[in-house]
Amino acid sequence: MIPFRQSVKFDKKLIDKDALKVVKTLVKNGYEAYLVGGCIRDLLLGLKPKDFDIATSATPEQIHKVFKRSRIIGRRFKLVHIMFSARKYIEVATFRAGKVKTSNKGQVIRDNFYGSLKDDVFRRDFTVNALYYDVVKFQVIDYVNGLEDLKASQINIIGRASERFEEDPVRMIRAIRFKVKLEADLNPEISKNINSNAYLLKNIPPARLYEEVIKLFHNENSIGVYKELLKFELFNFLFSQTEDSLFINSTLINTSKRIKRGDSVTPAFLFAVFLWDAQKKCLSSLSIKNKTQIELMVIASEEVIRKQIQQIMMPKWLSQRVKDIWLMQKQLENCNDNKANELLNHPRFRMAYDFLLLRSESINPELKKRAKFWTNLQK
Ligand code: ATP
Ligand code: MG
Repeated sequence: MIPFRQSVKFDKKLIDKDALKVVKTLVKNGYEAYLVGGCIRDLLLGLKPKDFDIATSATPEQIHKVFKRSRIIGRRFKLVHIMFSARKYIEVATFRAGKVKTSNKGQVIRDNFYGSLKDDVFRRDFTVNALYYDVVKFQVIDYVNGLEDLKASQINIIGRASERFEEDPVRMIRAIRFKVKLEADLNPEISKNINSNAYLLKNIPPARLYEEVIKLFHNENSIGVYKELLKFELFNFLFSQTEDSLFINSTLINTSKRIKRGDSVTPAFLFAVFLWDAQKKCLSSLSIKNKTQIELMVIASEEVIRKQIQQIMMPKWLSQRVKDIWLMQKQLENCNDNKANELLNHPRFRMAYDFLLLRSESINPELKKRAKFWTNLQK
């Protein structure tokens, strides 16, 4: 099988210098190495890539030998991180072989077999994500018609949708993410198989889903992604306690705007909004005597979070922040002027205030006056 090669010169400014250096160094040392995946897809679309992944014929040990400041990390696949600063690293993966070891549920459990470039192509999820860039010849290498699909805004899966979703159900939510991001159509096979395989998301470890959920909602298209997840009945497998609401919709529209403006976003806010109604429902069902309202709120919050982390992991700092946002709502609603300045200096004030503001603009219009009070106080 001879791949299609298309000559493309990308704007140098858009390519990460360190990633380019890593590829060139690997090639100089006699290995095959390419930029691959989302970065090539995004560059071809004229978008600025979020991260740069590299695929190579060198094994993790060989990569580690070439780069002194690197470490092999062993998650589901063995990968190498090449460090460029305390915070920045470039991830390099060895070409994966076609064969995988799967559990009786069809999921990948072991995957450290190395292969050729061609093998690696067929392990990737969608054709638009399986484009490789040869930095020496300035050519995109395409085995799966990914360039055509990208032009036609079409999401096609590599291989059979049913098998690829069984092998890794996370690909279903990735399909939705790319559909929205690329404003593309899903191949009908993909849509059909999302319907029948959605329940498989139950088997994904909560820690892995946490990472995917952040990617789903912390982008410019989060409202679109949310609507598609609802439509495909996938959302329930991420947040089973959540029901659609005006509050969630307003928040996600707001998140998209913030990201477009370059403002910061935090997953704490997202989780606090998704679980707010569930927390309130739980609170109203509690009938424990001799407890203050705040104590009851703490109990309800912890109960809702306990249930949520069975689906998606929430690191401790995150669940603490979610609780802070919720508990501060009552204070922001009721406190008197004397206490107001104290609250203003609370480290979580800003988040709790944003939360109150969004509530007042959606589900709680009666809080508008109160929200205005806090807005003015900050001037
Ligand atoms: P983003 O712009 O969000 O980074 P991406 O396509 O680069 O999108 P990553 O999660 O960074 O997504 O993955 C990099 C590449 O690895 C993908 O483009 C795809 O080729 C491959 N990949 C990632 N996850 C999977 C998966 N679950 N199954 C198969 N291939 C995958
Ligand atoms: Mg990426």
